[in-house]
Amino acid sequence: MACMVAMGCGAAHAFNFDEMTYTPASTTFRLNTNADAQAVRVRIYTAGEGGKSVKTVSLKRDGAGTEWTGVAHGDLNGKFYTFDVKYGGKYAGENPGIFARAVGINGRRGAILDMRATDPAGWADDHRLSIAPKDLVLYELHHRDFSIDPSSGLRYKGKFLALSEPKALAHLRSLGVNAVHVLPSFDYASIDESHLERNKYNWGYDPLNYNVPEGGYSTNPADPACRVREFKTMVQALHSAGIEVILDVVYNHTFSIEGSNFEKTCPGTFFRRNSDGTWSNGSGCGNETASEVAIMRQYMVESVKYWVNEYHIDGFRFDLMGVHDIETMNLIARELHAIDPNIYIYGEGWSAGTCAYPHEKLGMKAHIKRMPTIAAFSDDIRDALRGPFSDDTQGAFLAGLPGHEESIKFGIAGAIAHPQVNCKKVNYSKEPFALEPTQMISYVSCHDDMCLTDRLRASIPGLTADELIRLDLLAQTAVFTSQGVPFMLGGEEMLRDKKGVHNSFESPDSINHLDWANLERYPQVFNYYKGLIALRKHHGAFKLGSAELVRRHLEFLPVEDCLVAYRLKDLGGLDTWNNIIVVLNANKRDKTVAIPEGTYTVVCRRAVIDENGLDTVSGNSVVVPAQSALILHN
Ligand code: CA
Repeated sequence: MACMVAMGCGAAHAFNFDEMTYTPASTTFRLNTNADAQAVRVRIYTAGEGGKSVKTVSLKRDGAGTEWTGVAHGDLNGKFYTFDVKYGGKYAGENPGIFARAVGINGRRGAILDMRATDPAGWADDHRLSIAPKDLVLYELHHRDFSIDPSSGLRYKGKFLALSEPKALAHLRSLGVNAVHVLPSFDYASIDESHLERNKYNWGYDPLNYNVPEGGYSTNPADPACRVREFKTMVQALHSAGIEVILDVVYNHTFSIEGSNFEKTCPGTFFRRNSDGTWSNGSGCGNETASEVAIMRQYMVESVKYWVNEYHIDGFRFDLMGVHDIETMNLIARELHAIDPNIYIYGEGWSAGTCAYPHEKLGMKAHIKRMPTIAAFSDDIRDALRGPFSDDTQGAFLAGLPGHEESIKFGIAGAIAHPQVNCKKVNYSKEPFALEPTQMISYVSCHDDMCLTDRLRASIPGLTADELIRLDLLAQTAVFTSQGVPFMLGGEEMLRDKKGVHNSFESPDSINHLDWANLERYPQVFNYYKGLIALRKHHGAFKLGSAELVRRHLEFLPVEDCLVAYRLKDLGGLDTWNNIIVVLNANKRDKTVAIPEGTYTVVCRRAVIDENGLDTVSGNSVVVPAQSALILHN
């Protein structure tokens, strides 16, 4: 994994992050430190925690440089190790280094193992799927949410392996999504892996070891090979079902500064400080990494490349991308796209606090045009549909409140410049943020904030059970017919709720779990989601993939209060349908909408989708039932 200067790491100095290289004859250790390090020692253990070290190796400095190396002879397969660096006469504390590829329980010691021995049978034949971004349908999933409830019928509850089970794969295939975006799956700190019987829950946004799968999602966190093999087994199974695996990566902060491997290895180097010397907190989690620093920049590049090469990962979602600098994000994109231009990279184009770095250089949504192969979540369409992030009780379009139509049009167009979208009237972005529609993630809910059903209940007083379903389906119709890349929170297809909990990052399973029995309770919900996804898959008009094509073929019909209508026109060569009309009506009453004179086949009406046609209508107007979407074609 050594990064040569010739490969363009963007650093004056290229770092070698191969901290442990195993052969049956000997194991070589290597660590990059700050220039003022005085000594580095490696301790070898027989267990991942506890017990006394069986061997100590003193590493030697590479001339006047910052790299330290040393060799331990003999076959150390199955042993564990720690680094300890001396600064100012004191050792900083044992840790597994910054780039451990395998660790013991709770990630405190590195593990010596032959990575090839972790490959499941057939792994050499597993490949990334390389689905073009415009064709992606993203499904965000937390391992525990998905499988933990008995109703899931899955064997490996809360584990990576759940996603290798036939029932899980059949569900995802039936729904039609082609990429699962898994919440943090690297080794994180908040779950005690030695007490999994406590059934603690956490989203996992508290990174410990960035390049190792989380132990709590494996069947045996004490066995370093187990989590690696099971993660690969999951990837392999999803790939064979035609589903990509996208990792949620959280390089913007670590669970703490003092306890972090970064700080123990290179104190003061990996994190940004304020001008008064205090740690900056742009992540809202107590610290903020410094992507612009050479070692951190190269670290991020090497880490994502490692996941691609070792685990065949198909894409990355960058948590708080607005904390990272644009130059680093573009470098990551260049290096990944040199491997495969279809590796999809997207992120949250914001931070959670003020960063100690010039705002104009950060990976914000407003700067996406300067990151032309990276996408950002559109809070514009999200909040225009459900209401603002700042107040769960405030509704918007879905609640029947006028004034959000232009923001929805902005989202339907994929956040590009479109002659019929007046950005001055868009809620957040006052100008198009995307150059191409695939730079916008279209969504109405994700793990953050309330899920869709909870938000509808919280923001619409007196909401009936029928209205809830109608509005849920209307919301996703906007999401899935957008020219952006559609994204859904796992479980929305089961009409999930979180009992109104706004931030469920450590809520118990009773809040976060999916209730699979809902598939039988609300079959119309699953069938509608499935129908929407199929419609998108089968019809290129909904995913034109280029701004020029969107401007040419997407025409908005006149807006009314709480009603957005548009036509995908003159589709010859792009779709089997010539013209498609979509009307989103959030009004509590039916509306009559003027359309170009013609005879049309109705494929979506009153929360039912049938691509083969539900009905035929003729004339120059059409009735759109209350709180629902209508889709026609001719
Ligand atoms: Ca862990």
